[in-house]
Amino acid sequence: MNGEQMRKSWNGMSEEIISGIAEWRQQHPQATFRELEEEVDRRLAVMRAKMLADAAMASAQREWEQGSQGVGCPECGATLERKGKKKRKLLTRGGQEIELEREYGVCPACGQGIFPPG
Ligand SMILES: [Zn+2]
Repeated sequence: MNGEQMRKSWNGMSEEIISGIAEWRQQHPQATFRELEEEVDRRLAVMRAKMLADAAMASAQREWEQGSQGVGCPECGATLERKGKKKRKLLTRGGQEIELEREYGVCPACGQGIFPPG
């Protein structure tokens, strides 16, 4: 996903979230400040997770595509061998589970298998 695609995807999502919150507010005119805060946080957490996932994958992808140097092993500095894409699940601070599909690499020197930074 490039910068342009990310912007478009996030714009669309933020519009949905904003109108969702406005709608919820109209349906809950008696909501307390606390309830409103929870609702806003809950909806923003979804957007936050999506942005994190997209941004993390974009940087990992760029890392692998950066020319001949490749990605270095964090342990010994040898160049990692690409092993194709693997899925990895992460939990955001907002409690949302996100799944990243990232290029996976193995170090030919020390055998350590890692996802590129992130
Ligand atoms: Zn290594």
